[in-house]
Amino acid sequence: MWWPYVLAGFVGLMILIIIIRTLTFKAKDFPEMRKKHEFDKVRAIESLSQMIQFKTVSNIDESKVDKKAFKAFRQYLRERYPKINEVATYSEHEAGVLFHIKGMSDEQPSVLMSHYDVVPVTEGWQEDPFSGRVDEQTIYGRGTLDTKNSLCVIMEAVEYALNQGKTFKNDLYLAFGGDEEISGPSAPAIRDHLHKQGIKPAFVLDEGGAIISKMFPGVKQKAAVIGISEKGYMDVSLTARSRGGHASSPPKETAITELAKAVRRLNNHRAFKMKLTAPVKALFKTLPPHSKSFGVKMLFANLWLFMPVVKMMAKKSGGEFASMFKTTQAFTVASGSDAYNVLPSEASLGVNYRLRPFESSDTVLKRIRKIIKNPNIEVKPLKISEATSVSLIDEQFGILAKAIKQTWPDVLTTPYLMVATTDSRHYHAISDHVYKFSPMDVSRDDLRKIHGFDEDITIDNVINGVNFYLNLIEQL
Ligand SMILES: [Zn+2]
Repeated sequence: MWWPYVLAGFVGLMILIIIIRTLTFKAKDFPEMRKKHEFDKVRAIESLSQMIQFKTVSNIDESKVDKKAFKAFRQYLRERYPKINEVATYSEHEAGVLFHIKGMSDEQPSVLMSHYDVVPVTEGWQEDPFSGRVDEQTIYGRGTLDTKNSLCVIMEAVEYALNQGKTFKNDLYLAFGGDEEISGPSAPAIRDHLHKQGIKPAFVLDEGGAIISKMFPGVKQKAAVIGISEKGYMDVSLTARSRGGHASSPPKETAITELAKAVRRLNNHRAFKMKLTAPVKALFKTLPPHSKSFGVKMLFANLWLFMPVVKMMAKKSGGEFASMFKTTQAFTVASGSDAYNVLPSEASLGVNYRLRPFESSDTVLKRIRKIIKNPNIEVKPLKISEATSVSLIDEQFGILAKAIKQTWPDVLTTPYLMVATTDSRHYHAISDHVYKFSPMDVSRDDLRKIHGFDEDITIDNVINGVNFYLNLIEQL
């Protein structure tokens, strides 16, 4: 009997490979010295406080938008930053503004992005959301996190650098949207303006990921997560029609029972395949090696073997982890008859899809129709924004990672896939280097305040933010 020995040898070899891979599973780290700049911190804090006081609230209902506040904000940028306004060419595109600072070369232009509109105020605020009040540690108000902060620290950094006599190697654009929160036209308008002139940005940075803790099981360090791609977005309505009438003698199937079957099919079916795309793969290469858990390290060092286990864990945990792997669907809107005793002649459901990279809205719509298999149900896409392409992780990404390390030497940096959408999705069409990172260290609590109530930001984040952009533009 020779085969048990071969089998044992094979199993032993596998275990050896798994253990060696786990023990040698390391991510490259690029240490940098902390680099601080002597800019006017009081001024930076005052600028953000003043920016918060403009009620630049976006609303789908245009009659609710205070256009004067938007105009006044733009005027504020013209007056508060005299050096930028002296050096740069200024233009407006819809509600968006663009500053163009000429560098020595126009070959490798960069775009620093943000937006100055905010979402409406929800109930529950303890503070006046537009006071911009400042105490020892904090600045309060709508837009402090999302994202007048990033706009403010970009402007403060560039103004300071120019005043110090900085000249830029390459052209620099500061592009600020005025309607990001309603997916408005200003970011596409600025992008088109650049595209028409044949400008292909070598580096684009917009809001996105941030510095957060507990990003990965067993990883103790905080991680700066940098979006290199965004999932797409699609709203779909499902509508069924049937004969209406009195509810006392209903037919076997009505518009609502047909829809219920469709929901069951969609929800039960393994409708959307899990797939490991480039941004998630990159995350799995950078964070798990830092995990203190041997089990976690072993799994991720041996994805060639354990990928099915990881996928199963994702499926089980659902939520954020699962959404990194696949197109997700959420049933969000429902309508039928207006009265309890009347059959609806028409009933409809709204479903929100988040499309994973490399899965188009077209593919997803075809899947939906195939799974429902009911010609009586009309499947209609209402709003579509495709997933973006995936930006490169190369020396341009390195510029960003370096600036992060110079500002926060102890954090890990990693690419990841963004589930939310930003204005910068429009730039993937003209650049392979579109990155999404907001230079702030935030807690899970802070993240809940975005689009919620009691939004505020620490003064440390504002100061580090200016430092970060100074470290960044030194390389541009
Ligand atoms: Zn935002």
